[in-house]
Amino acid sequence: AETWESVPLAPPDAIYKLTYAYKDDTYPQKVNLGVGAYRDDNNKPWILPVVKKATERLLQDPNLDHEYLPITGLPEFTSAGARLVLGPDSPALLEGRVSSVQTISGTGANHLGALFLSRFYQWEEGVQKVAYVSDPTWVNHFQIFRGVGIELKTYPYYDPATIGLAFEKYLAFLKAAPRRSVFVMHACAHNPTGVDPTREQWTQIADVVLERAHYVFFDCAYQGFASGDLDNDAWAVREFVKRGAPLLICQSFAKNAGLYGERVGALHIIPPDGERAQSAGARSASGLFEEWKVDIKTMAERIIAMRKELHRLLTEELKTPGNWDHIVNQIGMFR
Ligand code: PMP
Repeated sequence: AETWESVPLAPPDAIYKLTYAYKDDTYPQKVNLGVGAYRDDNNKPWILPVVKKATERLLQDPNLDHEYLPITGLPEFTSAGARLVLGPDSPALLEGRVSSVQTISGTGANHLGALFLSRFYQWEEGVQKVAYVSDPTWVNHFQIFRGVGIELKTYPYYDPATIGLAFEKYLAFLKAAPRRSVFVMHACAHNPTGVDPTREQWTQIADVVLERAHYVFFDCAYQGFASGDLDNDAWAVREFVKRGAPLLICQSFAKNAGLYGERVGALHIIPPDGERAQSAGARSASGLFEEWKVDIKTMAERIIAMRKELHRLLTEELKTPGNWDHIVNQIGMFR
């Protein structure tokens, strides 16, 4: 037993602590701003109609067994995931350059992606491995990367003065970072700021990434959930792929399919042009794709409508001093 005495107790999870405090609170107009999960008009979790339908179909499927899947997961799922984020006519897919693995949601994808880089990225010999995340970022990035021996440093991202993107500083940092640095970027609906680069800014970010031969670790946890349109939200990822930047994508279906507890995710690794994928690689809701897109739109449009209404209440109704435009300019559930 003594052998284990030095194992520290993990610190309590701040977000879940808040959730329990919320549950215990008896105040009738309480609002939970802790965990990032979609709620409907009754403040209840929303089971997507398409998910309900798919679940019913699955339960009636006589071929459904609980056998082992291949090591890299259900191939129909991982390839559909890759098509979803990269687009069906992606050059990387057509050239067979994508390696995909099913993961324990986006968190598992982040972990596996970080582990993959820790083990196989061409790090500078004899120097501490370092990757860069936005300041601020999803807090779990820190434990995940440090857990696999990669130190995380931050790059400028959020500018409190403008409540927007610190774009010039961000770009200057990208330019000044050592060649072949690893940058973690949120594909859309940045957590926790809700601030995304514009397409024009993404293009300039891609220019520098290619110039400096950086590696992009895309964390894609909100595809479709931001604008209501899956293709629109994948624009940045597809632009980088089109331009031949080496990258990986962590994909989560927690938000856009409302499958928070099911842990459905994938990791997609895309080497630069000319390097073929060799290996490394959920149950399908086939035929229901169009219905899913409608459900995603429902969620995104409600979030956008809530932002508009909050903005209207603060400005027109309450005449609150100050500028509140960031509430409608920012994207997704945060800030
Ligand atoms: N990355 C980001 C930026 C996130 O916001 C989240 C969800 N909070 C995830 C990854 C992973 O979430 P999950 O493991 O639930 O898919």
